Amino acid sequence: MARHPRYDILFEPIKIGPKVAKNRLYQVPHCNGFGYHLPHGDAAFRSIKSEGGWAVVCTEQCSIHPSSDATPYPETRLWDDGDVRQLAMFTEAVQEHGALAGVLLAHNSSGISNRTTREVPLGPSPNSMYYNVDPIMGREMDKKDIREFRRWHVEAVKRAVSAGFDIIYIYCGHHFSMPAMFLSPLTNHRSDEYGGSVENRARLTGELLEDAKEAVGDKAAVAIRFTPDEGYGPAGITPEVEGRAVLEMFAELPDLWDICLGGWEYDSGASRFDAEGYQEPINSLAKKITSKPVVGTGRFTSPDTMVSQIERGILDFIGSARPSIADPFLPRKIEEGRNEDIRECIGCNICVASENIHAPIRCTQNPAAGEEWRRGWHPEEIATKGSEDNVLIVGAGPAGLECARALGQRGYTIHLVEADEEIGGRVAFESTLPGLAEWGRVRDYRRGQIAKMKNVEIHTGSRLSADDVLNYGAEVVVLATGSLWRKDGAGFSNKSPIAGTDGANVFTLDDVRNGVTIEGPVVVFDDDHYHMGAVIAEKLRAEGNEVTLVTPLMAVSMWTDNTMERPRLIPKLLEMGIELVTDRNLASIGGNGVELACVYSGKTEHHACKSVVMVTSRLPDDGLYKELIKDSAKLEEAGIRTLKAIGDSIAAGTIQTAVASGHRFARELDGPEIDDVPFRLERVDLQDDKCVANLSL
Ligand code: ADP
Ligand code: SF4
Repeated sequence: MARHPRYDILFEPIKIGPKVAKNRLYQVPHCNGFGYHLPHGDAAFRSIKSEGGWAVVCTEQCSIHPSSDATPYPETRLWDDGDVRQLAMFTEAVQEHGALAGVLLAHNSSGISNRTTREVPLGPSPNSMYYNVDPIMGREMDKKDIREFRRWHVEAVKRAVSAGFDIIYIYCGHHFSMPAMFLSPLTNHRSDEYGGSVENRARLTGELLEDAKEAVGDKAAVAIRFTPDEGYGPAGITPEVEGRAVLEMFAELPDLWDICLGGWEYDSGASRFDAEGYQEPINSLAKKITSKPVVGTGRFTSPDTMVSQIERGILDFIGSARPSIADPFLPRKIEEGRNEDIRECIGCNICVASENIHAPIRCTQNPAAGEEWRRGWHPEEIATKGSEDNVLIVGAGPAGLECARALGQRGYTIHLVEADEEIGGRVAFESTLPGLAEWGRVRDYRRGQIAKMKNVEIHTGSRLSADDVLNYGAEVVVLATGSLWRKDGAGFSNKSPIAGTDGANVFTLDDVRNGVTIEGPVVVFDDDHYHMGAVIAEKLRAEGNEVTLVTPLMAVSMWTDNTMERPRLIPKLLEMGIELVTDRNLASIGGNGVELACVYSGKTEHHACKSVVMVTSRLPDDGLYKELIKDSAKLEEAGIRTLKAIGDSIAAGTIQTAVASGHRFARELDGPEIDDVPFRLERVDLQDDKCVANLSL
């Protein structure tokens, strides 16, 4: 099928300096948790995006020098010529499918503490750390240091050219890059020609641009990633002062402007806080000033919104990080007139969490993300079926839906049976909660894909018993029956039940889902630490209840530090009038309230309330599985040759783990035996056969 002419504008070639991008769909630099130690995984992950039609595919931040070592964050680097080979693998993998390869050359200044290299962090002034909360300071650079820094940068630019990059970035973005730290009045307190006025604070940015242009000539384009708004109000970089000034001073100097927001938590805004296109006010500034192409992001997944951004003169390129992770084939799908096949990002930031927990990328919507090289998974392709077996999948939550979709794509005949009247499992409920509407896309994408498959039938409103399963006539039975929230309080901090949790005024999230009436004042006890505690508190507060959110940890929703939601969540909860109580465990429930115990002293205090909602942990809903597995003779008699539990019904986790579990089963059914190590390993290239210390006197 051909694309609708309405989208033609997205497929116009655009010049970037001496290079030409084949369309306007541009994967901006973003981290993926592979870094220099997992180069094959990195190259394969990016190469798939090029195959999916992105015109430009960039690296994550790539360190230029050992004085910028982001340990423990996994990043790439170009410290010496030995690093070129690895990056050349990246450019070859990306260019093979027709995309331009871009590299974000970065120095994190005194934003990071160089935990591996132990080099003293450098910066415009003696600042404390931005990222690593380490008790060391950055050193103020003198003029010689600045000259050296410029030389390192030029060396890295030259290495980037020899690695084959088409677009080479100067990174003056977010608030942890050297030029941004020079630019910001928050971090630059110098009195020489690099401090004081905006012109002085912007001097290094201009010098780096000029140095890079001179070093690359016509071999590559030079781009700048720039933050016109640091997110700290008048104390930091603002659009009105530094943002506008830098754009005006250097308007025509780079070949491309890549605009981003200050704090990463604003730049990668979660859907709980920001809707598609949320960066428009800041993106639109650059186009008014420069005639060079401008790229910017905004979690764009709608082709119509993309067209509107171009037609209204907001952007020249549709920048994408998360939408390109959730669907590496988004451009190809628009081009081929298959908009309804786009797997839309849900804005959950599980991908961001991968970087923050220092692990290779994973994605809620795209289970193949991060598995391209080590497991050989392609986001759009899958082997055809390996047998004529009929498959029964019980439970249409994220795990069951993804399993049905992927097995359906393989060509199996499938019945997906759901007890509820609607499909979606936990997502059907959670997407109705405050801020989580986009999470419904996990269900909607799969429902749309399955609707096109003649070999997959969905039956709702049918709770299957063990006998029903045995009599169904399927050779393969997959149980995706999910999990149930615990009422007894066992969780992260309490490994055994809490006294009083059997009371009639104590509720679980399953009770909330079933529409039980909860009388305020309410205590929500969160010992789960991801999103649900806070989200339920929001819901109950919005319904007019007095709500106290209690957690034994030192902050509420601690795990959402990884998804970068917490810094934005806390102000929202406080604004709503939700009382936050931290460092307090739930000792017991009784009478007219709860006893809360200080986690350090054990001292208890009474807190009056009428109801308590427990958000602590979940148990697998595995009764059906246990009933079936206990009698192998019955299974054999029924002709069931494979019985498998997937998703939350084995061990409750995130929506991402459930989707991945369903996908993995679908990949592996009727496939070769899986080895003890179920994927390819990246190995360190040993330099010496025998290791002796490299000592010198
Ligand atoms: P996961 O995240 O693993 O997909 P969910 O809890 O979201 O798990 O979904 C599990 C789904 O399984 C729920 O929609 C639930 O109604 C359904 N389910 C549980 N037991 C049965 C059963 N015996 N028959 C049919 N559906 C079931
Ligand atoms: Fe989008 Fe979530 Fe996937 Fe990240 S993990 S790309 S936010 S769906």
